[in-house]
Amino acid sequence: MALTEFDLIHQFFSGMDASDHVLLGVGDDAAIIDITDGWVLQVSTDTVTEGVHFLPDCGPSDIAYRAVMTAASDLAAMGAAPRAMVLALSLPELDTTWLEAFCTGLRAASADARLPLVGGDTTRGPLVVTVTVMGATPTDHSLLRSGAAPGDRLCVSGTLGDAAAGLALLRGDLAASNAADAAFLKARFLRPTARIALGESLRELATAAIDISDGLLADSTHLATKSGVALQIDHRLLPRSTAFSAVIDPAQQLGYVLGGGDDYELLFTLPHSADLPEGCTEIGRVVAGSGVSCDGMPTLRGYDHFGH
Ligand code: ADP
Ligand code: MG
Repeated sequence: MALTEFDLIHQFFSGMDASDHVLLGVGDDAAIIDITDGWVLQVSTDTVTEGVHFLPDCGPSDIAYRAVMTAASDLAAMGAAPRAMVLALSLPELDTTWLEAFCTGLRAASADARLPLVGGDTTRGPLVVTVTVMGATPTDHSLLRSGAAPGDRLCVSGTLGDAAAGLALLRGDLAASNAADAAFLKARFLRPTARIALGESLRELATAAIDISDGLLADSTHLATKSGVALQIDHRLLPRSTAFSAVIDPAQQLGYVLGGGDDYELLFTLPHSADLPEGCTEIGRVVAGSGVSCDGMPTLRGYDHFGH
């Protein structure tokens, strides 16, 4: 190959590391990140593998964007201020056109999630993308899954089911008559938004939080279990986008909203007196007990059409 590993890193992966908190970025044996006194570091990692996670028509730019945002979403769910990320990349071949497109998505996600790329590793092998993200919160002020208490309001950001609908469209399992609706839903799958700013604002407000990666039912069950409470969801309150309502048959909407994953919205609980943040919806409440119910029916896996 004409390009050496050094050239490749220099050409594609440097120049995304500028930040007040990055004392040393790409180029040495390790990066140096400044951690404010009285703050703790949050670390989380996510891997995507060709075949398992990528669709045939998911381009390199979307692969990169999505990999960063899904990892960043875990920081949002912790209430963390984003600080830096590292990228471990395994590539089958040195294809500069592919790498350029990949870096377009990488750069966009780095800016959107406020995560400078401070290092990584590049190897040859099957296509595997691992993004490790770092964030910070004041000591003892991280947002955990475990703080929900009976009487709290159960809330969610954004709209639900969009990404699952987008995935069904991408796979050709579903058709949409309106091109703009289809584009919106596909983008919700291919280009998710980590709710970083919302997570930071919830740090002092919410009692518990989790990001919705596996679907509302699966992830609300994690929150209920960790908090030792029961969650009651009212299906009429579940937020749906206009595009989703137009494209998905009304009889199937609840299946998508409860079981569909990949939305990367935040599910959180608020004390009764707290105001609902903008762009969020109250979908139910926290009571004593265990498990998740929808309209008084225990959900278990009953609405889980997606096999999570
Ligand atoms: P070392 O042999 O010390 O691990 P490398 O040659 O692997 O160093 O990497 C050189 C520099 O380039 C390091 O700062 C490393 O973090 C960075 N780097 C390597 N691959 C990537 C990548 N995919 N994205 C960002 N930085 C990378
Ligand atoms: Mg290395």
